[in-house]
Amino acid sequence: MMNLTGSARYRGKSWPRGNMGGNAGIVLVPIGDEGFFYLGRYFNFSFNEVILMEKNFKKVYNFNAGPAALPLAALQKAQAEFLDFNGTGMSIMELSHRSKEYEAVHNQAIELLKDLMAIPAGYDVLFLQGGASLQFAMTPMNFLPAGKKAGYAMTGVWSEKAYAEAEKLGEVFVAASAKAGNYCSIPAVEELQYDEAAAYLHITSNNTIFGTQWQNFPETGSVPLIADMSSDILSKPFDVSKFALIYAGAQKNLGPSGVTVVIIRRDFMEQANKQVPTMLRYGTYAKDNSLYNTPPTFSIYMVKLILEWVKAQGGVAAIHKRNQEKAALIYQAIDSSEGFYVGHAEPEARSLMNVTFRLANEGLEKKFLDQAKKEGFVGLPGHRLVGGCRASTYNAVPYESCQALQELMLAFHKENA
Ligand SMILES: *Cc1c(COP(=O)(O)O)cnc(C)c1O
Repeated sequence: MMNLTGSARYRGKSWPRGNMGGNAGIVLVPIGDEGFFYLGRYFNFSFNEVILMEKNFKKVYNFNAGPAALPLAALQKAQAEFLDFNGTGMSIMELSHRSKEYEAVHNQAIELLKDLMAIPAGYDVLFLQGGASLQFAMTPMNFLPAGKKAGYAMTGVWSEKAYAEAEKLGEVFVAASAKAGNYCSIPAVEELQYDEAAAYLHITSNNTIFGTQWQNFPETGSVPLIADMSSDILSKPFDVSKFALIYAGAQKNLGPSGVTVVIIRRDFMEQANKQVPTMLRYGTYAKDNSLYNTPPTFSIYMVKLILEWVKAQGGVAAIHKRNQEKAALIYQAIDSSEGFYVGHAEPEARSLMNVTFRLANEGLEKKFLDQAKKEGFVGLPGHRLVGGCRASTYNAVPYESCQALQELMLAFHKENA
């Protein structure tokens, strides 16, 4: 390969043919200050060209709530494989979902998730579409029979939405609610009200909008426990065997949007209502390894890359430790501010994934958010229901971003106290 140095872009000119042979294009990605990473060469180009990706691509501190930051290494891997996946001469998006190359990716994603989350035997990992929002309806469709009632722990907007969908399909009850305090707390597990006859108990493990998170999960015995883990799946180790069903839209901690991961206990799945249409039955996905129809192949491929990244970080325990350190940086800035910043969540309910806080008034909040924006912070304005600010610190958000936010908060406090 040629040695290229400096930041020059080489575009649209003929590359010396001797180096390449045939009609081809090559893609180089700048790495560090000088070097370039050779990504591969592509045939079927009607021109000879070297495409250098813009070296100074925009770098921001991404605190988006979802879709959210993805690990740079996973994005780079996807970029490197984008045009020619594994020597197939095609993008992963162009492969048949029945091809052995795609199926290997699909199965690796499932196995990696089982491995990382220590999912016990007797559970299936499924890939669905329709987001967590479709799960709000699909869970009662399958598991709320006439004559039974399903309990919902109300801890935020997403719990309310799940409850509202179930209410259309059967009988529901509130097992506990934190609404009175504008969802700044999580009910104690002993406070949950339900009896043995309940069809299931539903919780939202992390409340993305309000910034609260269940610190420990209830032991529900024979009552199946169902959890919406969209915004904290894979963020900490926990015992999957407590749950009958876990679902999560991928776009917070697992990958891009477009795929929903379901982890379901097989004996629970077998109790599902058989009258539900094919595509709304978990059994359909389980029976055909989530390949009954065309799955969102590119999203699943991205999930696989992100799971590989999690594994390379040392797995979920290591990620959890990092998440604690990251969130602590921001909570420290809140707690040491003597009321300049006020956290929305009660300290014992604080989320490691979404840190919500306010400033003294909306004018000051606007000033803070404007300054943050100027300094390259993205996604910090809070949800309209809480106002203020929210920093989403999902798995892929780098420690350095949280450090930078802490510095900004301390400096802004000093200047505006
Ligand atoms: C984002 C989110 C949802 C909605 O997910 P969609 O995939 O957009 O349907 C549901 N529940 C929780 C906890 C979320 O964070």
